[in-house]
Amino acid sequence: MSSTSAAAAPRPAPGLAGPRRPSAYVRGSLWGLLVVLVASLLATLVWLAGRYEASQVQSRLERDTADAIGDIRAAFTRNVQTLQALQSGALAREAWTPEALRLLHEHREWIRIEWRDSSLGTLAWADTPFRPSVFLRLGRGNAQADVALACANGRRVSGPAYSSSYFLPQVDGLGLEVMELCLPLVTAGRLSGYVVATYSLSEILAGLVGPQLTRSQEVSFTEADGTRLALHGAARRGNRVFTAQQLLDLPGNTMVLRMDSWRGAPDLFPNVLTALVTTMSIALVSVLALLGKDMRLRQRVEQDLADALAFRKAMEDSLVTGLRARDLEGRITYVNPAFCDMVGFAGADLLGHGTPAPYWPPELADEYQKRQDVRLTGQHAPPREGFESVFMRKDGSRFPVLIIEAPLINQQGIQTGWMSAFLDISEQRRVEELSRASQERLQATARLATVGEMASLLSHELNQPLAAISSYASGSINLLKGGPHAVADIELAMHRIAEQAERAGKVIKSVHDFVRRRDQEREATAPQALLEAIMPLVNLQARKLGVQVQTLLQDGLPPVVCDRTMVEQVLLNLARNAMQAMDQAAAASPSLTIQVRRVGTQEQLAQGNKAWLEFSVTDVGPGIPESVKQQLFTPFFTTKAEGMGLGLSLCRTVVEQHGGFLGFEPNPPQGTIFRFTLPVATAEPAAPPT
Ligand code: ADP
Repeated sequence: MSSTSAAAAPRPAPGLAGPRRPSAYVRGSLWGLLVVLVASLLATLVWLAGRYEASQVQSRLERDTADAIGDIRAAFTRNVQTLQALQSGALAREAWTPEALRLLHEHREWIRIEWRDSSLGTLAWADTPFRPSVFLRLGRGNAQADVALACANGRRVSGPAYSSSYFLPQVDGLGLEVMELCLPLVTAGRLSGYVVATYSLSEILAGLVGPQLTRSQEVSFTEADGTRLALHGAARRGNRVFTAQQLLDLPGNTMVLRMDSWRGAPDLFPNVLTALVTTMSIALVSVLALLGKDMRLRQRVEQDLADALAFRKAMEDSLVTGLRARDLEGRITYVNPAFCDMVGFAGADLLGHGTPAPYWPPELADEYQKRQDVRLTGQHAPPREGFESVFMRKDGSRFPVLIIEAPLINQQGIQTGWMSAFLDISEQRRVEELSRASQERLQATARLATVGEMASLLSHELNQPLAAISSYASGSINLLKGGPHAVADIELAMHRIAEQAERAGKVIKSVHDFVRRRDQEREATAPQALLEAIMPLVNLQARKLGVQVQTLLQDGLPPVVCDRTMVEQVLLNLARNAMQAMDQAAAASPSLTIQVRRVGTQEQLAQGNKAWLEFSVTDVGPGIPESVKQQLFTPFFTTKAEGMGLGLSLCRTVVEQHGGFLGFEPNPPQGTIFRFTLPVATAEPAAPPT
């Protein structure tokens, strides 16, 4: 029902001023909002992805730092054990030094090991073999306070203790940060001395943490306030630095281990996640762009559709043809303004109305109902050229309409109803009636004119019987004078008088009949009868002009369907024209032939074409000159002084009204043949002959 329901939208709103649509401004701002939202969502996603990645790096760094602290602690504990092992053998001083040197060789983080007595006096010492003695510049005594503090601590806790770190300037202008470890030696529960090991902070970093560092990391010891004490690792810097710090608290000293890590620039796609998010964002933006494009396309199509609808509406409103659609149940689903004007009902009164429709005349409602039932069964398609019917206006007046119906087929090819177009043909009917009346008047005038022309012929024709009657009458009078023996002769004369009077009466009657006959009916008429009706009049003129008349009829001709009076006048006109032409040209032996024959081959008849009879009127007159041919059928064209020029034009009108054809051709060597055709009488109208 889609197509009908669309068409059925009640007037005056086929979807144009219908549902409210957002203005262009609102639609634009909605789109703007959407774009802004999507853009900010994407930016947030990218930022979150970046942050996530940063937090990953940060937590890895924290882990690394914690691991490094663990490593350092473990190494310190192992170192303490190593130093305890150095002293455990109660070594002689001479043997101590090489052992200490061996340890220094293994442990680069130590720069000096000292064996001190319980009052911190140095018993033996050894320097790292990897660098010149670091105490050259300031001398070892400078660090005595730090050592004493550490050892006091160690004594208190009975274990290793560390001093705070201090800077040792070197002879080459540089320097290094060092820290003392003091390990009290206890022999049989009594303090017997100390082992003091000096740690280089930078070597701790290089030896104990360094191997695990990546290229993009830097590790350092700082004080609590951030002052850097020692550093190890790459000096390169990226655009983004991550820092992790862990406290290294040793007995007597606390330091911060700080680890820096950085990422190189540029760093557009830092990792898979960000790349993924970026790709998805691009895809999202592309989809958004495509949607926008699609939207614009839709808008354009919508606009076109609105234009098309407006166009259709304007077209429907301007039509003078009434349009009506009905569904398959016979309910009205659509009417156009012209239809409403035609029947005088408002569209709202008609829409949805079933049968009987308000514009059906009550006396015809039954017939229309039957017609509609037949239509709705779909068995009989309505005639393409339409059919005539009568409708009733709201005020009760009737008017004729021409209805053209066609099935309403929807997009799926299914019939959803019927569409009908209506033409109010009352005006056409009025004009037709007028023209028929004037045509009739013209015909009657032409007939009278013909008779007028024939008045002299009539007087001539009537003269003969009248003269004969008068001579028989005077003969009879003479016979009466002669006595009663002449009764037989008088009787004969009276018979003759009666005969002649009858003849005169016939002549007058034929003229009377010709002028007066007015029946309009078309009827099956034998061609013979047509000829017989006109022959008395034809013969009148023929006798006067000395023309020889011949009629030729095929045997067994069927009757033709025609308006007798009209066709007789055609024949009479043609015969009269022929005789006058021959008379004017003073033809040597004027002759007129009226012939009737059947036309159409057997083949044409077999194809269902109807049979035709051809009437021809042949003369041996002067023929028709080229200049006259063009205007022959023009009304009021004549070459005769007393002619009206209506004969041939009326003849053609009459023949064509019967569906036939009137033409002429030369009759060699001399003369003209006029021919016309009439349909043979059958139930149905005939197709024109070929
Ligand atoms: P009218 O007879 O009053 O002149 P028609 O329409 O019958 O009017 O004829 C028009 C003209 O056609 C005639 O004036 C005549 O010149 C010409 N015409 C008609 N029939 C013939 C014919 N058989 N032979 C020659 N000319 C003819």
